[in-house]
Amino acid sequence: MQPLKIRGIIFMTCTKERTPTSIEKPSPPIMKNRLTATDIVGAYVFCSDPRDPLQQEAIDKLMPKNIGAWAPIALFGGPIALARQGPSLDPCCEIICHQIHFAAKNFPNFKTVILIGHDCGYYAEITEKEVLLPEKRNDIAEARRSLECKLTELGITIEIRAFFYEPDGSGFTEIK
Ligand SMILES: [Zn+2]
Repeated sequence: MQPLKIRGIIFMTCTKERTPTSIEKPSPPIMKNRLTATDIVGAYVFCSDPRDPLQQEAIDKLMPKNIGAWAPIALFGGPIALARQGPSLDPCCEIICHQIHFAAKNFPNFKTVILIGHDCGYYAEITEKEVLLPEKRNDIAEARRSLECKLTELGITIEIRAFFYEPDGSGFTEIK
């Protein structure tokens, strides 16, 4: 910095260039590994709750990557909305069906939906009574049947698989 004297007042001048803002100089977008519509092979519906990083890792491992890319559909409660009804669940059910319908229409290789349930805290929002693990697993089976039925009504035939993430961290149980 150089001192600059004008009429007895000392100003400090700075020779360093001003840092440009991101608005003035946006970074070029990264385009590598971009997917196309034909790469999307399915979607998975799961609970938005991000508190268990092990569960998130397990979900990533569960999705078979060698066949293509999977679209995540995250909602608090996950697939519970497909099995149960109620003011806070009905719009979620509609959203899930609408999203899958959209994907099936627009992605030619979209053939599978995977429902992922867990020991979900959202039950406290929809019921005052305690919901035990067997009932939670059963809800995921019911969600699979219900989604199959709704998609058939919409003329969509895709494979639906359902899994429950065990709260002891042992991994997923496939629900038939
Ligand atoms: Zn949850």
